[in-house]
Amino acid sequence: MSLDLPPTLASGGCRTSPVLKERGQREVFCGLTGIIWLHRKMQDAFFLVVGSRTCAHLLQAAAGVMIFAEPRFGTAILEEKDLAGLADANAELDREVARLLSRRPDIRQLFLVGSCPSEVIKLDLARAAERLSGMHAPHVRVYNYSGSGIETTFTQGEDACLAAMVPTLPSTTARELLVVGALPDVVEDQCLSLLDALGIGPVRMLPARRATDLPAVGPNTVFALVQPFLGDTHATLTRRGARHLAAPFPFGEEGTTLWLRAVAREFGVDEATFDRVTAAPRARALKAIATQSAELRGKSVFFFPDSQLEIPLARFLARECGMTPIEVGTPYLHDALHGPDLDLLPAGPTISEGQDVEKQLDRQHAAKPDLTVCGLGLANPLEAKGFATKWAIELVFTPVHFYEQAGDLAGLFSRPLRRKALLGKEVAQ
Ligand code: SF4
Repeated sequence: MSLDLPPTLASGGCRTSPVLKERGQREVFCGLTGIIWLHRKMQDAFFLVVGSRTCAHLLQAAAGVMIFAEPRFGTAILEEKDLAGLADANAELDREVARLLSRRPDIRQLFLVGSCPSEVIKLDLARAAERLSGMHAPHVRVYNYSGSGIETTFTQGEDACLAAMVPTLPSTTARELLVVGALPDVVEDQCLSLLDALGIGPVRMLPARRATDLPAVGPNTVFALVQPFLGDTHATLTRRGARHLAAPFPFGEEGTTLWLRAVAREFGVDEATFDRVTAAPRARALKAIATQSAELRGKSVFFFPDSQLEIPLARFLARECGMTPIEVGTPYLHDALHGPDLDLLPAGPTISEGQDVEKQLDRQHAAKPDLTVCGLGLANPLEAKGFATKWAIELVFTPVHFYEQAGDLAGLFSRPLRRKALLGKEVAQ
């Protein structure tokens, strides 16, 4: 094994492939969705959506069954008089926040989350956050970001949330590794334990589980992203002087190894140590993928743009599971983030950015893929037409990063194919 990143494929990767850019009707969830996993991760944070009853219903429908403790999100509902400008929405917001914070002294970070209605009436939540921070400091820090569906896809909610925090992080000149992106706690622990075994530290996380663990940032911070949808966070960290470690994302055995290798190389870890630490989990991951990917080999896959995980997942399915991507659609393409995965994705698929859903459905119907990865809104109609589908949102809600989850990740794609094969047998009988 070597500590170098592998060269681009002999056949050429997809980094320089022409990109089909589309700007038409989109079928995506809004950025409020991110609250569902962020409120679990940040244990002293509260997400207050300033929105409508529709926003409240979306959150309750999506997160209602997942609540395991007192909820750390809610909606300040804009009534008709607010929308018509007949009431002072700022005064009402101040009152609601004061009531919430007096009831919940455990809250240390409060996020005011903008929505379509708050943006339509141009409620200035940035000023509100500043004002409320002043009123409730030092116990509570108030941030704001937009989760509106006007211009977003659902994973942009996390990006906007983290990007809002970066300018407020303290400064440091310490040489530290910052791992950026929300991971389920169990996966975060695995990541930290691998980095610790490699002798890399200190390691900071963004988001942190508690406000007291928030990282500091400065010119000697190097950061590695674990989620491919953090373009704005990448930009704000870079503006603070931190340096990005470009690497494929830690999905599958190969992605995890290359991500760790990029970090190990930066921190001068020798090859023998890298091999010793990674050999056993790599072997476990390869075995688990082999079991799950038997049904995937030789099958084709079509990605509609949704989660922004499409490019690294296409790389994983092509290189580790033997699938053939036909089209890999992504809402946004960031070369700095997605370039290393595009280098490894075998040439051939159409790479598309943005969406014109009718045209894309025509392409998908013509291609007749074995598996289609898409949003919830498209999945049922496609299933009704006989296509096997995988809901992209499940890939964000399920632990899929690093070695121990590699088999589960392959399993998420093999299950719909297995189900379709079983249903086909039943119909034939
Ligand atoms: S933010 Fe917009 S898209 Fe999202 S639930 Fe509210 S109204 Fe709907």
